[in-house]
Amino acid sequence: MKIREIHVYAHDLPVTDAPRVMSSGTLYSLDTTLVRIVTDDGTEGWGETCPVGPTYAEAHAEGARAALAAMAPGLIGTEIWPLVLHRTMDGLLNGHHYAKAALDIAAHDAIGRSTGLGVAELLGGRLVERVPTYYSTGVGDPDETAAIARERLAEGYPRLQVKLGGRDVETDIETLHKVWAAIRGSGMRLAADGNRGWNTRDVLRLSAECAEIPLVLEQPCDTVEELARIRPQLRHPLYLDESGTSLNAAVSAAGTGLVDGFGMKITRIGGLQPMRAFRDLCAARHLPHTSDDAWGGDVIAAACAHLGATVRPELNEGAWIAAPYIEGHYDDAAGIRIVDGHIPLPSGPGLGVTPDRDLFGDPVAQF
Ligand SMILES: [Mg+2]
Repeated sequence: MKIREIHVYAHDLPVTDAPRVMSSGTLYSLDTTLVRIVTDDGTEGWGETCPVGPTYAEAHAEGARAALAAMAPGLIGTEIWPLVLHRTMDGLLNGHHYAKAALDIAAHDAIGRSTGLGVAELLGGRLVERVPTYYSTGVGDPDETAAIARERLAEGYPRLQVKLGGRDVETDIETLHKVWAAIRGSGMRLAADGNRGWNTRDVLRLSAECAEIPLVLEQPCDTVEELARIRPQLRHPLYLDESGTSLNAAVSAAGTGLVDGFGMKITRIGGLQPMRAFRDLCAARHLPHTSDDAWGGDVIAAACAHLGATVRPELNEGAWIAAPYIEGHYDDAAGIRIVDGHIPLPSGPGLGVTPDRDLFGDPVAQF
């Protein structure tokens, strides 16, 4: 099966209850990029990539579209099979995982639609029909964050991620104590996500002053070197997120015992093909991990859900999707939704969602 056409769309996703605050910046809306591949037998496949603004990762929306434009002419007429596609993409452009991921997801969707199989089956087969997810709070007032924790617990979320950092550490510590008081004894798991925003001094203090709270510390500091330095003094398990920029980075972190788990994003590692290898590496070392992406609409959410359905349940920290934080769906009927803290896997072939193309206007580029 060969790639006949590639269409690239730009779309603005409004953030509900804007602005949303993270240690890396404040969000009002997001510029997402969609890719529609058409194969030589007329099958369509959709992909998506949506950096959380220009300051979260080394990625930005216009960069994604420029990278897609750089690769697309060289991909017309080439085989769509993921391993072949990645080898071809790597021969056209070095790096730029987040742009390659959109094409990788579109390829998986097209192969699924052509064969009648769900993407989860292409990734090895679904282990669950309802994929656990988790709720992620913004960096907020301690009492308000605790109130959100209570609400999400009541809604059935099995896990909560509290965004912290970018302010005085006393407020972060107060927030974690108040959140813990709200969910203690419920079984809800807790992650404290600094999004690279703390220095080593502050995270060591936070870990000591929250020692009795069974949380995981997610990417508290900016660099792997800082994490390695504080690791022996931490009172909590350590997860890598933003620094897990490639399969190689993940192998190093897992193999050297730097971390106890990962927050992993499909677009950061380059798509579902490398994510599948990452999943299996984590399984070999019994390391829990998420199956996320940064933001985006129904296409990226469906990719996260399908991948999340293939993770061993005992290692599955959930698939985070942006649905609760953005307005509307690309596919009114089959759009990805959260029900009782879980994502029901869509039933159709491929990703199981068919975006309404009219939402996106004319393509910004066609090949
Ligand atoms: Mg994170």
